[in-house]
Amino acid sequence: LTREGRAVGIDIGGTKIAIASVNGAGEVLREATIPTDSRQGFASGVARITETVARVIADTGWAASDLDGVGIGCAGPVDPVRGTIHNPHTLPGWMDGDIVSPLREAFGCPVVLENDADMALLGECRTGAGRGFDPVVMLTFGTGIGGAAVLGGGLLRGVAGEHPELGHVPVDPGGPRCYCGTSGCFESLASGTALTAAARAVGRSDGAELLQRARAGDEAAQRIRGGALAATAAATWTILHTLLPERLVLGGGMMDAHYDTFAEAVRGAIARATLIPATRISVARAELGGRAGVVGAAGAAMAAPGGTER
Ligand SMILES: [Zn+2]
Repeated sequence: LTREGRAVGIDIGGTKIAIASVNGAGEVLREATIPTDSRQGFASGVARITETVARVIADTGWAASDLDGVGIGCAGPVDPVRGTIHNPHTLPGWMDGDIVSPLREAFGCPVVLENDADMALLGECRTGAGRGFDPVVMLTFGTGIGGAAVLGGGLLRGVAGEHPELGHVPVDPGGPRCYCGTSGCFESLASGTALTAAARAVGRSDGAELLQRARAGDEAAQRIRGGALAATAAATWTILHTLLPERLVLGGGMMDAHYDTFAEAVRGAIARATLIPATRISVARAELGGRAGVVGAAGAAMAAPGGTER
């Protein structure tokens, strides 16, 4: 990786959109954040994104003709082949929107689109906790639980280019109903949303407060946290035996303060595994934080066909 290479990475979430200029070494040069406001409609979103990309490029001292590519990580599901967004839950108002064509027209360079969890993992593999490992699985603990895998140097893709939904690995058939249609998913027991629901049932305001109370010794909070940790260990067990990662990366807002507790649950699962080379499997905290998505997206754009990896 060298400092040559000029790309823009875009990370679209349900609340905000991060846009950054990134060089070939994965260094963020300039960045800007705008509200998503997807209910204003797709055309408004495209216009605001295009305008902000242009501003970030100008602030970096680049011309649009200098760009090697634009990469977009978007809260999924997305269709990376057609360049369209299909997420009525997180991005209402943007259903079936083609985000790739207008940016390609505006900036005259290759534009790639992937799920945001995939782009975050590509970022961690480029300059963060996944660098030098393969396969790598990343779990992102936030509102939901996102998952992504790199295998043989590239993203693990399934039918229609889709990525694995590791948050919906079943861990407790008798557990709470999940919006995906089944019960007791990893996400429905260990996500920020799940912890907040459980916290309110015992008079706490949200999952963050619950985890703080558990750390301070509150037994009711520790019982609920114990359920999330058991779900994490059970999901890890499935991931270990299906994907055989060399490294597991844990990211997302919940890991800022509680990585050690969750990593211990993951390490416990690894230590119990007897049929896989468990001693060669490590767990690490994501290193790039909120920047993983833009770094990964820019890297994917530079590596795209017609893009310039240099
Ligand atoms: Zn589910």
